[in-house]
Parts: sequence; structure tokens; C-alpha cells
Amino acid sequence: MRQLSPEERLQKEARLMKEGRKRYVSELRKQLKELHDYCEVNESGRTLETAKHIYRMVHTIKGSAPIFEFIRIGLVAEKLVHVWEWTQVSENGGDAERIATQFQQSVQAGAQWKQQLLMEFDLYCQEMDLDEQQEQFGKLSLAPSGGRLLIIDDDEALRSYLVRRLKLEGYEVDHAADVGSAQKLLREHNYDLITLDLMMHPQSGYELFEFVKEDPTLKWVPLVVLSGRDDIHDKVRCFYLGADDFVTKPFQYEELSARIYSLLKRTKNFEQMAFRDPLTGIYNRRFFDHQIHVELQRISRYPAPISLVFIDIDRFKSINDTHGHHVGDLVLQGLAHVLQKNLRSTDLIARFGGEEFVVVLPGSTAQDAQKSIEFILQQIRSEPVAQNEGQAFHITFSAGVSAWCEGMTIEEWIQRSDDAMYAAKQGGRDRVMIYVDEMGDSSGSLSEGADEHQRLTVLIADDDRILRSILVSKLQHLPVTFLEASDGEEAYSILTQQSVDLCILDGVMPRLGGFELLEKFEQEGSKPMDLSILMLSGRNREDEPAKGHAVGIDVFMHKPFSMVELEMKVKQLLEIQ
Ligand code: GH3
Ligand code: MG
Ligand code: MG
Repeated sequence: MRQLSPEERLQKEARLMKEGRKRYVSELRKQLKELHDYCEVNESGRTLETAKHIYRMVHTIKGSAPIFEFIRIGLVAEKLVHVWEWTQVSENGGDAERIATQFQQSVQAGAQWKQQLLMEFDLYCQEMDLDEQQEQFGKLSLAPSGGRLLIIDDDEALRSYLVRRLKLEGYEVDHAADVGSAQKLLREHNYDLITLDLMMHPQSGYELFEFVKEDPTLKWVPLVVLSGRDDIHDKVRCFYLGADDFVTKPFQYEELSARIYSLLKRTKNFEQMAFRDPLTGIYNRRFFDHQIHVELQRISRYPAPISLVFIDIDRFKSINDTHGHHVGDLVLQGLAHVLQKNLRSTDLIARFGGEEFVVVLPGSTAQDAQKSIEFILQQIRSEPVAQNEGQAFHITFSAGVSAWCEGMTIEEWIQRSDDAMYAAKQGGRDRVMIYVDEMGDSSGSLSEGADEHQRLTVLIADDDRILRSILVSKLQHLPVTFLEASDGEEAYSILTQQSVDLCILDGVMPRLGGFELLEKFEQEGSKPMDLSILMLSGRNREDEPAKGHAVGIDVFMHKPFSMVELEMKVKQLLEIQ
């Protein structure tokens, strides 16, 4: 295995973190849904058991979210942990009625935090999408440049949510909690759009309305009313007063955002986003970079094969050199035309650069894609691709195909097709080749060529399914085979039946906790010889490490822990470089 440079290592860590975050987000989405459902149970469901389950869920979120740098989610979850803390005291007794009442009180007390948890989650999702987009094609904002907005609302949580989301879309956003401070801001700055809450204290939104519409410099600023009630009289009054739009709470953020966008679009000149290549009329690289994400999202929802083809014209330079640049241009146009004519409307065709084209074929395996492109190559060979002054021009091209594999980055995918294209050139040009990696494995395993026989075995014993899957995804690049156990009994039976090199062990688990498991080993003298133990603990109790070392724990880590540190410790224990 080649040693990674420090820079490569950092890049790799960043990539792993990104993958982990993505995975975590999809799990967290499920958890939040489950949390919501549990809080909404009907009266007969409000038992201590359900309450304890809610506690465990929020406790898990509190512990796992910060590991993936979702700090704010961790903090909000902590509030919920406090709200549900009562489930952990032993003297809850069996008084079902009292428990149901307490349950209901906690649901109410936690409603605000739960709501905020959803908002924070939503914001992080947006941030991640945006980061990804920016990585792909620089800063591309849908918001018109220079769009400056003023959000006026006395609902603190909603206001802060709107401000942050609109900022993510590229707007500059100010906010005010009452009429007085809104007036001050309106005097000091120029805004492109205002959103105004009608129900505010002590002065209502109507008062600001009058202020705005009487001021000759402000009366043309688009104004969107956010109203707490869907009242036709309010609506009519607002439109007569000069509102440009009226949105009733609760609203979907997307709707508000679309309304803001459309209002600004009418009043502003937009930077036109050119997504087409002027020479050939097909999509350009920028659009491709954008659209490829959309295609992959579709695949993640409706799993199907998808392939990417890299096409490069053979000896194109000599056409330019012999017949002139103009003929070269005609050839490029001709090839673009043939590709468009022969591929499906759902295939994505783009000019990647110079005389290189990319095609993405959703629903096609690498073999399917190879057939489609070979068919086109056959046509290109037999018919001239361009005509100029009575002269016909023929070309051939070389193409490389690779199919998408789970976990791969887009750059890696393109690189694979490019590698295959290069192999086609090496093989004599005029052909379509499929990418095959060095191990002859086209399934795209991320392992770095580790020898199966020398693989080490790691058991992850933790009742938190998400944490287990995250650990596997974070550590899967190591030459390790993973086993999983969801409770202590299961872990015990695995450890006593097969050879395991390292056990990542949760301190508190159902049936048999991590500590109890180790004590059992102690009593029976049955701890496997070469087994290392890395203990993960959710509770920060000072005596635990001391207690742990006594029962044979090699390393102790508290949740939330740093993934980088964990990976380092795992490598040390397994003696992997
Ligand atoms: P190979 O078979 O190895 O791909 O050889 P090649 O000559 O096709 O490859 P090379 O990359 O050396 O040459 C690509 C040429 O494409 C060089 C460049 O001048 C030309 N080219 C790039 N963009 C355009 C364009 O927009 N119009 C024209 N006419 N030529 C272009
Ligand atoms: Mg080239
Ligand atoms: Mg070429």
C-alpha cells in the first residue's frame, strides 16, 4: 500500500467525513420522523416505555450529531434530553396515569425544541447541498446578485430560520423583531424586498405597512406579507394597501422562497446563466456538473444502473492542421448532432471541453452503454460527419465507459471513464472500452487492495444502529472485516466463537452492557488472547476509565468522540500503518 502524503491524508479524511455526514443525515432523517411519531402517540401509547424510547432517541442524537459536526443539532437535542430526563429516575413507579400526564407535559415542553431540531436539520441539509454545488462549479447562486432582504417577524425561531435559509440561497438578509427597529433599518439601508409579519407586538404589522407605503423611496420595494391566519379580510386589506404577495403561516419554505425569487426577478436584471455550448448547441460543462447531481439523486431514490461515457475525437488536431479550424468546428458540430440524434432524450450529452464529450446514460449498465456508443461509432465510420465546399470529412473517436458504483465520487467516476478512454487510445483508437480496475473488479470496491487472508476482524458492539453503520462506513477503507452486534449477549457469543482482533464496545447496551461483558470474561477467564478492547461510553463518569482498565480495556473514548481520533486509535490497536 502506498503511503499517503499529509495533504492526501487530509483530503481523504475530509472526503470520509463528507461521506459520513451524508450517511448520517439520511439516518437522522428517519430518526427525526420516528421521534415525531413517538411524540404524537395517542393516549394509550403514552407509557413509560415509549417515554424511555424517546429519551434514548434524543440521547443518541445528542451523542452522534456532534461527531459529524452537526453541533447545533447536538445542542438542541441536549435540551430534549433534559426534558425527558425524568424517564431515567428509578422511582417512576407504575402509576400509568401520572406517567401519561408527565409524558404529555414533556411533549409540550419539548415541542419548541423538536421544531427547532427540524429547522436545524433542514438548514444543515441545505448547507451541505450548497457546499456540494459550490465544489462542483464554483459559487452559483440562484439569488439575483445584490438581493438584500429585510425579514420582520417577532417569532424568534421562525425569523432566525428564514434569515439563515435565505442567506444560504445567496441573499443578504437583515431582520427586525418589531416595527420600531424595522423602521430604523429601513431608514439606514436600501432593501430589494421586505417580508412582514402582520401579528406583532406591541405594534402590529399594519403600522409598518403605512409607514412604508407613505414613504416615496420605500413604496416601490416589493413587500410580502406573512400572516398567522388565512383571513380573506386581511388579505384584501393588504393587497389594497399595496402588498405584492400574501403568504399564510405555516408555509413551506420553498413556496416563500419561490415567491421572493419571482418578485425579485420581475424587478431585477438577472445574470443569465449560460448552460449551452455556443458552438455545438449541446449542454456545456457547467450544466453537466450541475445535472450529474440531479441524475445521481434520482438513482438514489429509484435504484438503477447508470453509466458515464467519455468520448474523444481521434487525431482531431490533424483535421485542424490540414483543413483549418473552421472545418474542425464543423466536425465538432457534426459529432454533437450525431450523438443527439442517436441517444435517448433522457441521456445527458455535454461538451466537456475541446474535442471531448461526455454522455450519461441513466438505466444503462456499462455493457449497455458500450453497445449504444459502438452503434454510434459505427455510423460515424460509415458516414461523413461534416461537409465543407463539396468535401466530406470522416472521423473516428475513442470512448471509455464506466458504471456508477455506490460510494464513488463524481470525480472518480469521470476519472474511470477517462482512464478507459485512454486505454482505448492506447489500444489503437476507434473503439469503445469499459473501465476495469486493477483487481478486475468492476463493482468498485473501495478497499485498497488488501489481501483477504491477512484481513483483521473488528467487532462493533453497540445498540445504536446508526453509530454502527457510521463506524463501518468511516473505517471501511482499512483492511478489516467488520462484524456487528446490537447487544452484549450477541457480542459475547461472537467473541467466544470466532477470532476477533478488536472489539469496539459500547459501555451501556441492552441485555448485557459492555462493562458486564468484560466482567463476565474476567470471572470465566474466557477473554480471547489477542482481543483488544476499545470502549465507547455515552456517559461521562470519571470512575469509568479506572474501572475499565481493570477489566482489560485498552482504550477508552467518550461519546461524542472525534472520528479522526477513533480511526487513529483503531489503527494503533490493530497495528495498521
Ligand atoms: P488523440 O487521438 O490522441 O485524441 O489526438 P488529438 O489530435 O485528437 O488530440 P489532442 O488533444 O492533441 O488535440 C486536440 C485538438 O483539439 C487541439 C485543439 O486545437 C483542438 N480543439 C480544441 N477545441 C477546439 C474547438 O473548439 N474547435 C476546433 N476547431 N478545434 C479545437
Ligand atoms: Mg483530447
Ligand atoms: Mg482527440
